[in-house]
Amino acid sequence: MTDEIKTHRAIAIDGPAASGKSTIAKKLAQHLGLIMVNSGAMYRAVTHQILEEKIDPTNHPAVIQALTDMELVGGIDPETSTSTISINGQLLTHQLRTQQVNQHVSPVATIPEVRQCLVDMQRAYLQHHDLVMEGRDIGTVVFPETPYKIYINASEEIRAARRSKDGESDAVAKRDQQDSSRKSSPLKIADGATVIDSSNLTVEQTLEATLQALQQQGWESPPFSTESPISNLNS
Ligand code: C5P
Repeated sequence: MTDEIKTHRAIAIDGPAASGKSTIAKKLAQHLGLIMVNSGAMYRAVTHQILEEKIDPTNHPAVIQALTDMELVGGIDPETSTSTISINGQLLTHQLRTQQVNQHVSPVATIPEVRQCLVDMQRAYLQHHDLVMEGRDIGTVVFPETPYKIYINASEEIRAARRSKDGESDAVAKRDQQDSSRKSSPLKIADGATVIDSSNLTVEQTLEATLQALQQQGWESPPFSTESPISNLNS
């Protein structure tokens, strides 16, 4: 074997709001021993900060200026191996899931300069880690060259019900409409992605379908470990 620079591998998980992709991305990453990067949290963090600064999210020049001025840092929580996001030294967690942020995040995510900045942050994670990244444009724009692409879907009714069960008020249909129709990196199924409809599947079944799809896409590290919390995947 020649000395090669280790190139890291990315598993892209895309899909509409509340399709279950965060849950699956997290469990998949745990199962495979990878880090999990939540790209939506980055768009939410910028939106939170814009709102904190009382900037109109539709005022693009003001948003871009604020983005330039803020110190945006992506990290990894060593305990959970999931991505973290801080702005101006403050780690953001519950602030990312407010009704206000839900309402304004999609308009902020239409701004190409915001997307470019966050896509650069997202790609930077791959320099040091094998990872699972979830979002809207991971398989199409962030890592279009990865062979490992999953698109998780669920019916609109199921997705709205999941969000309200979590106690969140989130007009998922409106957000999806905005995310799918924007000019810059719209939500769509990436070439080569396997589509999994999670509407009538349990989390475990969705994870199983995801692992099978990845195996078909050529994922070779031991996806089905004996330590696995998931049973009967290899049978
Ligand atoms: O995944 P989550 O629902 O937290 O994403 C919040 C919003 O961030 C999405 O509705 C979308 O507008 C934006 N987003 C995006 N591209 C990504 C991830 C999220 O535009 N890769």
